[in-house]
Amino acid sequence: MKKRILLLAGGQSGEHEVSLMSARSVLAALPRDQFDVTAVVISKQGRWLPPTDTQRALETGLSVQGGDLVLHRAASAEGYDAVFPLLHGPMGEDGTIQGMLTLAGIPFVGSGVLGSAVSMDKVMTKQVLASAGIPQVAWRLAVRREWQDRPEEVRERAAELGYPLFVKPANLGSSVGISKVHDATELDAALDMAFGLDRRVILEAMTKHKPREVEVGVLGNDAPIASPVGELSFEAEFYDYKTKYTEGHAQMHIPAKLPKEVSERIRELALQAFKALDCAGLARVDFFYVAETDELLLNEVNTMPGFTTTSMYPKLFEAAGLSYSELVTRLVELALEKR
Ligand code: ATP
Ligand code: MG
Ligand code: MG
Ligand code: MG
Repeated sequence: MKKRILLLAGGQSGEHEVSLMSARSVLAALPRDQFDVTAVVISKQGRWLPPTDTQRALETGLSVQGGDLVLHRAASAEGYDAVFPLLHGPMGEDGTIQGMLTLAGIPFVGSGVLGSAVSMDKVMTKQVLASAGIPQVAWRLAVRREWQDRPEEVRERAAELGYPLFVKPANLGSSVGISKVHDATELDAALDMAFGLDRRVILEAMTKHKPREVEVGVLGNDAPIASPVGELSFEAEFYDYKTKYTEGHAQMHIPAKLPKEVSERIRELALQAFKALDCAGLARVDFFYVAETDELLLNEVNTMPGFTTTSMYPKLFEAAGLSYSELVTRLVELALEKR
């Protein structure tokens, strides 16, 4: 019997469009002799679109208004063997959808409520990984209310870290809302932007030198494996939205040209982080490597990384001998094994 798969795409976060791109690739790659696949696009307003509107959204990248509220559709999702929540950012990668599917008793691809929620929040991630002894940059948390009522305290936290520093919404992705703050004169605007997108904001020290950016894929449930290490290079000051999604602005190098010992350290730390955060299925673990000081710092863990055929995560496993379509098949198997 073919497995009935529900692929969820779009969603309410700033990464809606990125999710639609990933979904087109996954839809084309799930082997039809094994799977009966239905796609549902979730609009930016959080409505689950009917088939014709879903089709249009996938083709044009535009999701119209309308459709059902999430709770109406949760019950009908029961007709599926597994759900592939190919959603990035809040209301998709953060444990919310995962909680609904858990309540409904439907297996799904990727991390559960705990792993998703903790990994989505950059502050919670840092706290958990610090207690697991994983090296990271220095950081401070600020919440919106503090910025409104006691801005001097927040500015003081930034001063403690020193400049340049990074300001980020705690729960987002694709570099949306992230600023590199060169000195104190740029701080307020960066905080205003980040707080416009999230209640929680993280301030991060920058590495002493511009770091090399290396990423590794992790695949599995309780006995995960790590892919080869990949590296990104680009001209921009940091890996911002435009650099990520404009053709030709960033180059991917797989495997990364690193001493074997460094690659092994990266893969080992990625597996440790995956376990410490209680991730499942897949994650892309991103690091900074400062060659000058031979320093390795874990930047973040993405529990639903970009998933087009040219995205880093599938490319890393392709280098390990797993084709894109074998990879998505494996992810569905892992979802079914997880219960
Ligand atoms: P993703 O799309 O991978 O989910 P994201 O939106 O979660 O990304 P980060 O990976 O935290 O954001 O940061 C985006 C980019 O900003 C990094 O890839 C890096 O180029 C730069 N950056 C972020 N934090 C630092 C830091 N502390 N020091 C140096 N560069 C940084
Ligand atoms: Mg991220
Ligand atoms: Mg992300
Ligand atoms: Mg990142």
